[in-house]
Amino acid sequence: MKEHEDSPPLMIEKGEGSYLIDSEGNRYIDGVSSLWVNIHGHSVSEIEDAVKNQLNSIGHSTLLGLSNPAAEDLAEKLVRAAPSGLSKVFFSGDGASAVEVAIKMAFQYWKNKGETRAKFIFLENGYHGDTLGAVSVGGIDMFHSAFKPLLSENFKAPSYYCYRCPLSKTYPSCGVACADEIDRICSEHLGEIAAVIIEPYVQAAGGMIVSPPGYLEKVREIADKRDVLLIVDEVATGFGRTGKMFACEHEDVCPDMMVLGKGLTGGYTALSATLTTKRVYEAFLGDYEEFKTFFHGHSYSGNPLACAAGVGNFMAFENRKTLEKLPEKIEFFENELKEFNSIENVGDVRNKGLMAGIELVKDKSTKEKYPAGEKMGWKVAEKAMDYGVLLRPLGDVVVLMPPVGIEMDDLKKLMKATYRAVREVATES
Ligand code: PLP
Repeated sequence: MKEHEDSPPLMIEKGEGSYLIDSEGNRYIDGVSSLWVNIHGHSVSEIEDAVKNQLNSIGHSTLLGLSNPAAEDLAEKLVRAAPSGLSKVFFSGDGASAVEVAIKMAFQYWKNKGETRAKFIFLENGYHGDTLGAVSVGGIDMFHSAFKPLLSENFKAPSYYCYRCPLSKTYPSCGVACADEIDRICSEHLGEIAAVIIEPYVQAAGGMIVSPPGYLEKVREIADKRDVLLIVDEVATGFGRTGKMFACEHEDVCPDMMVLGKGLTGGYTALSATLTTKRVYEAFLGDYEEFKTFFHGHSYSGNPLACAAGVGNFMAFENRKTLEKLPEKIEFFENELKEFNSIENVGDVRNKGLMAGIELVKDKSTKEKYPAGEKMGWKVAEKAMDYGVLLRPLGDVVVLMPPVGIEMDDLKKLMKATYRAVREVATES
């Protein structure tokens, strides 16, 4: 807040396509999709019309004991789009609450089956939101360690951070050795573990860390072998970001629970969902007095306006052929990213689809980090503003995550401006 007082934030008053427009009329490319939520850009007619139409009927009615057409429609669309096997949808408000739902549902699944399994395996550098359950399975010390006395204890497995992996000196061909630790923890704590929770393919808030191919598939195999549930958190990776609708599709993995948020409404409003299988759902069926009920609900669960935005998001995917147009954009993006490797202080450049991290280091040969006070990531973001791009770094990792529907010309501008900003800041350092 001290820094905030010294430099007040931009007032964003409007959005058009991939641009944000401030109160003085300056236009900036939304280089991180308004914190990873925006999918088709701003002012998307399909989403806006769907919400306006919904407003003509009703703003909100509860999903506790009632239903509404928008929620039903969106649930059906989600089930159709998700890996087959995920057939049940539980709506909540934001990503963190959908993670809470997954954690509680996994715990109660085992409880309803007569077992007490209160532990979770999570990954170092993992991020699942800022509520206490989500923080209990979070692996980023800077965000999470202050709250340790408030948290439940779980088991931490290594991150798939190949660039800084102690197991591998041969990045990127390290294989998926880091997944073995999940297996080891499972075998040591048999019967205690309810689920493994991971971000599939990209640990986003951890620094845009990209998993080696085969990791996700291997974790699925381990979860099956050890009979624990697999929760994949697609809050950041969902809705086309990685090149497919959901990151799980890259390895044909169907999790036991999939958590969605952010892009679910195309970036228009808060809504999240936890999808699960018939097998999990059936463990909650019973006579009234058995109280197998999942006692969890939010006032605005399945809010019709938010669900209408979600339906509009799917319509935009279809009308605009968003996924079909992605390969060309990703190819261009990846080629442009390669250029960053030639910059002296760029240690690692990694991406999956249109999610990328450019890690700045003090010394390329030793991978030595900059002292935190140098704020290298922020310096790049400030410089990028001069060139008409808004970014938000994660420490010294410059993050690029443009709207999935970004036009090719805007993508070109984004890459050019970012390259210039990184090169200039690196040369000045
Ligand atoms: N899970 C992941 C993977 C995320 O990246 C985030 C937010 O960045 C969350 C959960 C939390 O979502 P929300 O901020 O909507 O609570």
